[in-house]
Amino acid sequence: MNLLDHATASYLGLAIGDALGATVEFMIPREIKLKYGVHQTLCGGGWLHLKPGQVTDDTTMSLALGGAICLQGKVDALASAQAFDAWMRSKPVDIGNTVRRNLIQFRKTGHPEAPYSDHDAGNGAAMRVLPVALATLGQSEQQVRDACRLQAHVTHHCALSDAACEALVLMVQDALRGADKLHLLHQHAHPLAAAHPEFRFRAIKPVHNPSGYVADTLAAVFQSFFDTDNFRDCLIDIVNRGGDADTTGAIAGMLAGVLYGRDAIPKNWLNTLNVEIRKACEAQAVALIQLSGTPVKTAEVRY
Ligand code: MN
Ligand code: MN
Repeated sequence: MNLLDHATASYLGLAIGDALGATVEFMIPREIKLKYGVHQTLCGGGWLHLKPGQVTDDTTMSLALGGAICLQGKVDALASAQAFDAWMRSKPVDIGNTVRRNLIQFRKTGHPEAPYSDHDAGNGAAMRVLPVALATLGQSEQQVRDACRLQAHVTHHCALSDAACEALVLMVQDALRGADKLHLLHQHAHPLAAAHPEFRFRAIKPVHNPSGYVADTLAAVFQSFFDTDNFRDCLIDIVNRGGDADTTGAIAGMLAGVLYGRDAIPKNWLNTLNVEIRKACEAQAVALIQLSGTPVKTAEVRY
C-alpha cells in the first residue's frame, strides 16, 4: 500500500470520472446506448460542449478547496468560501444552483456558512470532499467530521449532505489506511443507509438516471462501486447510468481510485485527461498528504 500512489489515484479518478461522465450528463441510459453503445472514452462534447479530457465544476471546485487548504494549512470555512467565490468569478463551465445561490449570499454577508435547509440536499458539497479527506488523514473522527462541515456548509448546510460528505471522507481515509472494499461497505455504506434510509442502495432496483439529490447520487455510486471489481468497469458502469453522470463519475472515480491505486487507471484515460488538470491533481494530492503530517517515506515521492 503506497499512500501517495493511492491518494494521487483518488484525485485522478475524480477528474477522470468527471470528464468521462460530463459527455453523457443529463442523458438517460437509452439515449447513451443509441449514441455511444457503451460510453467509455474521454471524448468531450455533451451539453457543455467540452474538449476531450476537459473536466467540470466537480474537479475545479475540489482544486479550489484544496488550494485554500494548502494556503491556510488547515480546512477553514472563510478561506473555503473565498476560494469558491474566486472560482465562481473565473466563469466555470458549470455551477450548481445551490452553490451559486449560497455563494451570492456569501458575497452579501461575508458569512461563510449557508443557512440550514433540508432542501439543500444536492450533491454539490459531496462532489468536492476529497481535499478534506487527504488533509485531515490521521485526525480524530470528530475532527474529520468537523472539517467536512466547515467546507460543506459554505454552500450546503443540510443533514443529508453532511452524512454523505462524512461517509465519503471516512471511506477514502480508511482506504488510504489499507482497508478493503468489504470494510468500506460494512463500516460506512451500510451504516449510512441504516442511519438515513434515503441512502438505501441494496434491495432496490439499479439506480438509472441518478439525479443531483445526494442520496440518489450515492445510491448509484455505491451500486457501481461495490458491484464491480476494477477501476475501469466501475467508471463505465456509473456513467452509462446517465443523469448527473459527471458527478456520479467523479465520486465513483474518487472511491475507485483510492481503492485500486494508480496502476489500475487505464492509460488512455490518463493520457487524455487535460494535462494541466492532471498535474494539478497530482501536485495537490501530494501537498495535502504532506500537510496531514502522515509519515510518507521519501522514496514514495514520485512527482
Ligand atoms: Mn459538473
Ligand atoms: Mn453534475
